[in-house]
Amino acid sequence: MVDYGMSKIAILDSLVAQRIAAGEVIERPASVVRELLDNALDSGATEISVILVDGGTSRITVIDNGSGIASDELALVCQSHATSKVSTLEDLYNLTSMGFRGEALYSIAAAAKVTIASKKEGDEATTIVVDNSSVGKISPGGPLKGTRVDVEDLFMYVPARKMFLKRNSTEYTMCKNVFIEKALAFPDISFKLYDENRLTLSFEPSSLHQRVISSLSTDKRVTPTDMIEISDEGARFSFVAITTSGASYRNDRSHIRVYVNKRAIDEYALVQAASYGYKELLPGGAFPYSYLFITVDPELVDFNIHPAKREAKIRNLAEIHHSVTSTLRKQLPQQLAHVSLKSPSSSPQQELYYTPKGTSTYDTLFSPAPRTYNRPSDDSWFERAKEVLQQKQEEPHTRSSYNFHYIGQLFTLFLLVEKDDSLYLIDQHAAHERLLYDQIRSDKGVQHLMLPIEFEVEYSIDQFLLHNSEKYATYGLTLKKKGDLRWELTTIPSLWKSIEKDVIAFITSFSATDPQELEKRLYSTIACRAAVKAGDAVDMYTAEALIQQVFDLENPVCPHGRVFVIEITKEQLYQSVGRII
Ligand code: ADP
Ligand code: MG
Repeated sequence: MVDYGMSKIAILDSLVAQRIAAGEVIERPASVVRELLDNALDSGATEISVILVDGGTSRITVIDNGSGIASDELALVCQSHATSKVSTLEDLYNLTSMGFRGEALYSIAAAAKVTIASKKEGDEATTIVVDNSSVGKISPGGPLKGTRVDVEDLFMYVPARKMFLKRNSTEYTMCKNVFIEKALAFPDISFKLYDENRLTLSFEPSSLHQRVISSLSTDKRVTPTDMIEISDEGARFSFVAITTSGASYRNDRSHIRVYVNKRAIDEYALVQAASYGYKELLPGGAFPYSYLFITVDPELVDFNIHPAKREAKIRNLAEIHHSVTSTLRKQLPQQLAHVSLKSPSSSPQQELYYTPKGTSTYDTLFSPAPRTYNRPSDDSWFERAKEVLQQKQEEPHTRSSYNFHYIGQLFTLFLLVEKDDSLYLIDQHAAHERLLYDQIRSDKGVQHLMLPIEFEVEYSIDQFLLHNSEKYATYGLTLKKKGDLRWELTTIPSLWKSIEKDVIAFITSFSATDPQELEKRLYSTIACRAAVKAGDAVDMYTAEALIQQVFDLENPVCPHGRVFVIEITKEQLYQSVGRII
């Protein structure tokens, strides 16, 4: 008999199993806020209030004036897969509600004390308490209309989760961000946020345009009149973009937000589509405030691929990508683009991008943020563009035309290229990652951040940084301890400026003692972050710039050592159909 060692396989204690599953959906107070808001939204409420105590760690309350829950169904809502929203498989492909798995209340109730008080029209108000999975009796009493859910002492009995929580003020900010994110997609609903008994945010019913402006009211970089509305529709989708006209911008992509069917998702291809829409309206390394609200035929979207529903498979993604970019290009006021960036001798490909001296077209297209700009007034931008133009004319032409023919993209992964007597298939993500990796490794420019970035880390990382911060310094990242679990980043390699969030995310999660390991992981994470993903739609100009760089490489393998260029010769192709060249 085989000896499997000491531990036997056993079915998990059901409580343990519940808590593991709960962890996937409920990570922190902000996840509870997200789920409870989704439920309130699905209930058809017109007024929703959120009350947080101690950043949500002691109590989260969500009150809505929606449909309410029938007294004889109240006992069901905290059971696994209890949902009123989906009953057949077809329903999953035709989602119109925010919730659909019937897992949220069940998961929350496995990790906290949950009290649900609700009243459905024509029914009595009733209340139920589920305390860390133990279901109490139903008692009479509750609101006059709608539902109130209280979630107390989250993770009290899940120390492993509780340990990962940040300070209350940080948890509060995360909850607030979820609150704003939801409020943006539902402008006709009133939303109120309280920090204990202090009203901190209030959105009255308004237009979508006005709701976006209200949410940015504390951001001094945004002038309300600069936010304009642009829209378009295609065969099975439509979109509205509330977007800056070019005068307000940031040096990161954090305010390019994408909603699909009222759900905020992390879809880099569409973030990219919005920023491509600005072309030379914005200087390199600058990004707009752009909120994209896309409506897609539910049959073409699958949200059921991520525990927090932050990702979606969108079947007509390429079409939407194209429509967003081209509509923005057409409809954005072109006052800044009057400066013609054409130089008489440049090739058509080069006309599209303005290339400052000393950087290649590739840098302009792909580097996270090779240069920094003060926020220029329109005049200074004009002056600088002229300067660039003059420089361009002085530069000798190294690439008058490409010596390859870009055919197109295959499976949203491969770039197909005809060159000499061969067909090449290039894995776009791996290729881009490799190019960025080389570039990052060779770049020595380090910048002082005007505003150092403060962040919080867990205890183990704090200890790691105490002993290893000088390792980061060798990569241009200067870290200073600011206090209890608080650190500050004061310098950053200039190429990484627009992805500083990813850099911080790396620092707050990495701990290993081998310096080799640190360098490799850091560089490849950063390169991977900034690279075009497999599955991203890539426009022709981007593709051509990428291909040119790939052909210049001596040894095309990705930072992880994988080959990413496949060559099929004309001869091989002819032979495979029984012909001779
Ligand atoms: P899901 O939202 O995926 O259906 P949940 O666990 O979040 O799963 O909720 C379970 C069920 O409880 C919902 O399908 C709904 O019928 C009911 N419910 C939860 N919250 C509310 C609410 N605020 N108003 C009305 N019904 C609610
Ligand atoms: Mg739900």
